[in-house]
Amino acid sequence: MSEQIEKYLKLRSYIDLKSENLLKQHGGNIVCKKGCFSCCDNLTLFPVEFEAIKAEMKRDGFSPAKLKFDESLNCGFLKDELCSIYRYRPIICRTHGLPIVFFNDEYDEWSVSFCELNFTKANLEELSFSEENTLNIDDLNSKLYSINKEFTNSRRRIPMKLLIEA
Ligand code: SF4
Repeated sequence: MSEQIEKYLKLRSYIDLKSENLLKQHGGNIVCKKGCFSCCDNLTLFPVEFEAIKAEMKRDGFSPAKLKFDESLNCGFLKDELCSIYRYRPIICRTHGLPIVFFNDEYDEWSVSFCELNFTKANLEELSFSEENTLNIDDLNSKLYSINKEFTNSRRRIPMKLLIEA
């Protein structure tokens, strides 16, 4: 496994921990549950992420070629409303539903965004978001970008669908 793939896996573990922590902090305001796929979408991946997922699947003897990739769904890897590659899902999928912070160019300021199915019972005026209880998506993307840059000169993103041919 290359050094960059190991860095990718380390970043993914950090995001898993951060997500777990955010779920605890926001308690009942985050209602994400098994069977909800409203955040799912057919994604493209940086080569380093694509190769890391491929390597993990190979190590586990998991063959995505046996999966049916259904183009008609939000994400072709959905099966019976569940993620058929859950264990290997990309980093962005691990952040679904969480409050994320990003720099909003339109207003020239930091903004928070979250799934509209979450925080529905909260008083938005009283919600207080900080570095501790959000995920900085710009920071995550720039870390991923840097790891990919070390991995390859290619910035070309790869459709996740190609995992079934890998
Ligand atoms: S890989 Fe899984 S979690 Fe990610 S978008 Fe597809 S079905 Fe949803």
